[in-house]
Amino acid sequence: MRLPIIAANWKMNLLLNDARNWVKDFKHSLPELSSCGVVVAPPFTSLSTVKNELAGTEIQLAGQDIGLALEGAHTGDISAKMLKDVGCDYVILGHSERRRDHHESDSMVNEKIKIALSQGLKIIFCLGENEKQRQDGETQEIVKEQLLSGLSGISSEEINHIVIAYEPVWAIGTGNNATPEQAQEVHAFIRTLVAQEYGDAVASHIRILYGGSVKSKNSKDLLGQPDIDGALVGGASLVAHEFCAIINTLI
Ligand code: PEP
Repeated sequence: MRLPIIAANWKMNLLLNDARNWVKDFKHSLPELSSCGVVVAPPFTSLSTVKNELAGTEIQLAGQDIGLALEGAHTGDISAKMLKDVGCDYVILGHSERRRDHHESDSMVNEKIKIALSQGLKIIFCLGENEKQRQDGETQEIVKEQLLSGLSGISSEEINHIVIAYEPVWAIGTGNNATPEQAQEVHAFIRTLVAQEYGDAVASHIRILYGGSVKSKNSKDLLGQPDIDGALVGGASLVAHEFCAIINTLI
C-alpha cells in the first residue's frame, strides 16, 4: 500500500505575507491527513516563515532546487545543507522549468540527487516529455532516458528516499492536463522501468506523482488511476482552499 503524496510547488510566487495567509487558510480547512502526505515547496525566501507557521502540523517542507556545492563561493546558490538547516524534508529536482531556464542536464540532475541524498533530504524527481516529443512518439524514450540518467548510481536503499513526479511539459501551467489514461500509461511504464532496475519490491513501493494542470476538478480521475500515487501541483496550489480540495479528493 503506497501512501499518496500531494505536493504544492509555489514556484516563484507568494510574498511573505501571502505565505503566512496561505498557511492560515490551509490550517483552517486542513483535511484529515491520515490518508496522504502533504508537502509544500515555497520559494527559498519564505521557507523559514512557512516552517514556523506549519509547526505542529504534519505538513512537510520542500525546497525547489539546490546548488551543486554544499558551501563556498557560489553567489546566488542555495545548498542542500542550507535546505536541511532551515528544516526542509524534501527538495524538488529536475523540474522542467529548471531544465529550460537554467539548462539543467540529466547528469546535473543526477549529481543534485546524490548531493541531496548525502544531506538527508528526500527528493521529488521530476521528468517528462515536451509536446513535440509526444507528437513524435518519443514519450517512452525520453522518460526512460531522464529516469535512468537521473537515477544513475543510486542504490536500492537510496531510491527509497526518492519520489518520482511525471510531469509532461505540455501539461504544466497550460490548463491541458494529461488524461488519466495518458498519465496512467506513462506511470505504469515508469514503474516497469524501476522494477527492471531495482526489482519488484522497490517498484511496488515507489511513489509516482502526476504533475501538470492538476486542479480539484480533475484530481479525482487522475488520482484514481492505479499507478498514480499523488500529485505535484503548481498553479492550483497557490490558493489554499483549492489545494485542500485536491487533497480531499483522496479522502
Ligand atoms: C509544476 O510546476 O510542477 C506544475 C505541475 O504546475 P501546474 O500545476 O501549474 O501545471
